[in-house]
Amino acid sequence: MRDIYIGDTGPLVQYMQLALQRAGYTTPVNGEFARRTCSVLGEFLGCGVGCHVDASGWEKLLPYLRGYTTHVIVKGDTLWSISEQYNTSLAAIVTANPTVEASNLQTGTMIYVPYNFPLVAEDVPYTSEFTKLIVEGLQVRYPFLVTGSIGTSVMGRELNYIRIGRGTTQVCYNACFHANEWITTPILLKFAEEYAKAYADNDKLYEADSLELFEKYSLYLIPMVNPDGADLVNGVLYDEKYLEQTRQISADYPSIPYPDGWKANINGVDLNLQFPAGWENARNIKAQQGYTSPAPRDYVGTAPVSQPESKAMYDFTNANNFRLILAYHTQGEVIYWKYLDYEPENSRRIAEYFGRVSGYLVEETPYASGYAGYKDWFIEKYNLPGYTIEAGVGVNPLDMSQFSKIYQDNKLILLGGMTQI
Ligand SMILES: [Zn+2]
Repeated sequence: MRDIYIGDTGPLVQYMQLALQRAGYTTPVNGEFARRTCSVLGEFLGCGVGCHVDASGWEKLLPYLRGYTTHVIVKGDTLWSISEQYNTSLAAIVTANPTVEASNLQTGTMIYVPYNFPLVAEDVPYTSEFTKLIVEGLQVRYPFLVTGSIGTSVMGRELNYIRIGRGTTQVCYNACFHANEWITTPILLKFAEEYAKAYADNDKLYEADSLELFEKYSLYLIPMVNPDGADLVNGVLYDEKYLEQTRQISADYPSIPYPDGWKANINGVDLNLQFPAGWENARNIKAQQGYTSPAPRDYVGTAPVSQPESKAMYDFTNANNFRLILAYHTQGEVIYWKYLDYEPENSRRIAEYFGRVSGYLVEETPYASGYAGYKDWFIEKYNLPGYTIEAGVGVNPLDMSQFSKIYQDNKLILLGGMTQI
């Protein structure tokens, strides 16, 4: 994280405030680095008045964003005493340290200590850096998760994935293809956390047996397909060359708000118009609408899968054996389930189930956005169920105040993507 100062506003200030709140201090998470924040921060950092967070300040704050700290065993420690010392649960420590024997603690051994709060925050925006911290934190809290990268973005950011479960039936959910739809990222991250916690505690995940799920399915989550774009929309993209490029592209589209209306990747290519399923049709439709070169939205690019993010999704999908995919977008509370006349086996039944459990409308894709999407390509190529879920309502980017309702509406879709196959 870069340095922040009194008077600053935005996501980094919110992350600082979130960390302070999680550390037990009283502060709003409003993104305004005001004078009263300084006194709370100063108390936390132990420096009197803190009107600046530098690298060493972030070093102290980050454990509260990752959701864990480390502890080196000293003589007399027990896992129970450590859990008391950090005000956390013994079970969480045991889960995070599967190779540590409680009855035989070795002095000098480092262990992970998860803090006693849910990791996936519901009151801050999701940037690439914050998403990465959450993925790291989930991996530490729940070592049975598998995490990795499916590739890198134009600007070199990792495209993270999380796998939960070790079953032979693979499914894949993705989010944030579109920059200003980053609120979809925490939908997948929260589901990962709820599922992992249920599995660790041998609890039910909503109505399902989490242990059975884990053995039967391998769920792949790709929470942020377009990290560069999400950072642009969130105001945390600092590379002047790329920023200038997006300003120039936007200048040709004065009716699209900048950066709030930005959907594309950092090159001005709409990643969800990049797939070889009627791509030429999409190109012609979008050209008629005036999108013939890089744009904040709706430009198909020079060829299918010509951008690193769409290519990574394409390759990762081809390298696996997904039986169903969900692509999370905002907004409209609508589920799109068809590509042209393709109707893979069970796809209509599952769409209707999703509609019932979410209250979302189930619709056929409108003609003007009916080609070259990831789910279109998946349906055409594999003849298997693929869905675009348009979560929430309002103007993108949706505010996190909607998140709780969005998650509640979607949790049984997320579960059903496995159990309804
Ligand atoms: Zn979208």
